[in-house]
Amino acid sequence: MSEIRDRKENRTLQVDYSKIETPADYVCEDCGATNCKLWRESHTFNPKLVCGACAVKEEGKEISFDEGGMYVSEMGHTDQIGIYLPAVPTKDGIGFWAYALVPPAGVDWWKKLPTYPIKK
Ligand SMILES: [Zn+2]
Repeated sequence: MSEIRDRKENRTLQVDYSKIETPADYVCEDCGATNCKLWRESHTFNPKLVCGACAVKEEGKEISFDEGGMYVSEMGHTDQIGIYLPAVPTKDGIGFWAYALVPPAGVDWWKKLPTYPIKK
């Protein structure tokens, strides 16, 4: 399976990878941050979306990200934060790419988004 189907009703995640813009409902569910990188819960069909700041808070760790959303963990250089993985919506907005299967344009889009949240 190449993608995780999103089952949250009425969530709009349609994305144009050529633009540094986020879909309408690409919003942190904890603090409302948008127009920045978000991470999604893994292993669920109804993933919660969170910004880096909220994911770090939940993990109870100090993390300093680079521009691409990577950091150095005990496990090495990574962009995974505990149970959270980079949230790259599929182009049609009905789900998220599985971690290892995100197409290069999607990876680029996510990496170019601001890492830290901008509050609405
Ligand atoms: Zn947040």
